[in-house]
Amino acid sequence: MLKINQKVVDEIYRHAVKESPLEACGYLAGSDNTVFKNYAMTNIDKSTDHFTMDINEQFMVIKKAKNEGLKIIAVYHSHPNSPARLSEEDRRLANDPGISYVIVSIAENKLDIKSFKLKNRIFKEEKLKIIAGNAEYDSAKRNRRRVAGICAATARIRELK
Ligand SMILES: [Zn+2]
Repeated sequence: MLKINQKVVDEIYRHAVKESPLEACGYLAGSDNTVFKNYAMTNIDKSTDHFTMDINEQFMVIKKAKNEGLKIIAVYHSHPNSPARLSEEDRRLANDPGISYVIVSIAENKLDIKSFKLKNRIFKEEKLKIIAGNAEYDSAKRNRRRVAGICAATARIRELK
């Protein structure tokens, strides 16, 4: 199951609408199976039916997420003119069983979002739960501060030795 913060879902829809009629793409970051943040990426294909991410931007965003104490847990892209289903090309290009593939559709003025995951080389739709607020993101931030505190303390002890 993938859980996504309502605020993030709204951001993804906004991104999809903004890029339409071109496909929008990006990363979803969080911890465990819960998404707290989206990173809008450039679709260098500038296409209405496929996308490619910019490799330098990918490195930058992965680093940024790491610095914010978050992990990349999904890739998302929009289908401006088709349903929230994996296309043949999506299936061909997606090959990482460790992440979720989220598709948002804004076709026919309807909003839809679905998530898929590779299991034994077969794509399965996974349950997607939209959660309210960002309390869990705050707790992730607190946890990160705590870890940073421990690291600083360890360094200080090393200094004193
Ligand atoms: Zn697609």
